[in-house]
Amino acid sequence: LGSSLRGTLDQLQGKSRLDEEDVDAVVKEIQRSLIGADVDISLVQDLSDSIRQRALDEEPPAGTTARDHVLKIVYEEMVALVGDSTELPLESQTILLAGLQGSGKTTSAAKMAWWFSTKGLRPAVIQTDTFRPGAYEQSKQMCERAEVDFYGDPDEEDPVEIVRKGFEETQEADIRIVDTSGRSGLNEELIEELKEIEGFATPDRNLLVLDAAIGQGAKDQARAFGDAVGIDGVVITKLDGTAKGGGALAAVNETDSTIAFLGTGETVQDIERFEPNGFISRLLGMGDLKQLAERVERAMQGTGEDDDWDPEDMMQGNFTLHDMRKQMQAMNNMGPLEQVMDMIPGFGGGLMDQLPDDAMDVTKSRMLDFEVIMDSMTEEELENPRVVGAERTERIARGSGKSEERISELLEQHRMMERMIKQFQGMGDGDMQRMMKR
Ligand code: GDP
Ligand code: MG
Repeated sequence: LGSSLRGTLDQLQGKSRLDEEDVDAVVKEIQRSLIGADVDISLVQDLSDSIRQRALDEEPPAGTTARDHVLKIVYEEMVALVGDSTELPLESQTILLAGLQGSGKTTSAAKMAWWFSTKGLRPAVIQTDTFRPGAYEQSKQMCERAEVDFYGDPDEEDPVEIVRKGFEETQEADIRIVDTSGRSGLNEELIEELKEIEGFATPDRNLLVLDAAIGQGAKDQARAFGDAVGIDGVVITKLDGTAKGGGALAAVNETDSTIAFLGTGETVQDIERFEPNGFISRLLGMGDLKQLAERVERAMQGTGEDDDWDPEDMMQGNFTLHDMRKQMQAMNNMGPLEQVMDMIPGFGGGLMDQLPDDAMDVTKSRMLDFEVIMDSMTEEELENPRVVGAERTERIARGSGKSEERISELLEQHRMMERMIKQFQGMGDGDMQRMMKR
């Protein structure tokens, strides 16, 4: 799996130049990962050729190891393969969803509506599936859960009529998401119906919804839907399963489009805006070294004040409140810790699942309180928070003007992060240290 790609890359450590054999070894591992992730074979071939050629032709820039150089090339070529995320301006628009039955359209419609609502827009879902019994109820319920407007009519048989009325009824909405019916396979009826709906709704964007498990069928589907209505973006669903979604890249390629969203579960919040880095790391089965390195670097630059703070010390010795403070500031610049953790090689959901849901939820206001509290603590307490008992808590509360409960939260947060750091330290192969140092 990805570990063998890592292994192959690690064997290049210390080399200043790569020969053909080295490059072939890397390319072979990448091919293995991508084919395992259902990426179309001709896309894999093109990618391999580009990587091979660049890795052999291009000189590593001064101060760059051959390994980092080839990693950079792999990363850049992978970005070129998966593409950027579909542009989605946060403004009034109509989005049409197309796809076969069961691909996840109705679920994605509600999820996308929820997503837009978190951006301060007012979305509405218009349900035009008159083909599948239960489509109306399913859609209505999901929209209720997403707390977004919904229009449908279980007694109307003409999807175009539903769109017409739906537009009238949802005039207050900024975003209209038109969900359509599917069929179990591509057929004329489906395509004709879709064309009619599209012709009437004149959407700003047509998105093709594909199940992550789609394999070779992606290309034909993409061509059929693309020819019928034009496809501007792809939504890949069910990425919470074992499928990595690589098959969908053939659809992206075929329609000359990009990926807009990823579906990662059955609830309305299980949606992510597509972002190449994360997707690439999933495809390669390898933590997102590049992004982590960049983010960590950026974050560390932003924290300034004590320059002798070295993340590596944290990885080796005790995890103090000083470390936690730095860590919180860094996180503020990096995004949620959960996201950062996800990028670390070999560090999947496992540990995160063992933690309480809100464990990593250090909100801004809590963080500010924590900082004030730490200002009222002694050096001894910062270095070894375990000495803080009831009496000291009382004193710190008085000094900081914060509640004792807040102080307990701070200590609890520290213990939790300490536990995670211990796990990092247990990783043993120096990944974290290396990444933090870059
Ligand atoms: P449609 O026929 O294209 O409208 O597909 P649906 O939205 O009805 O989804 C078909 C099935 O896939 C339903 O059981 C959904 O709950 C499920 N589903 C959709 N998206 C996801 C996802 O991202 N993850 C998981 N695990 N299930 C999903
Ligand atoms: Mg549906």
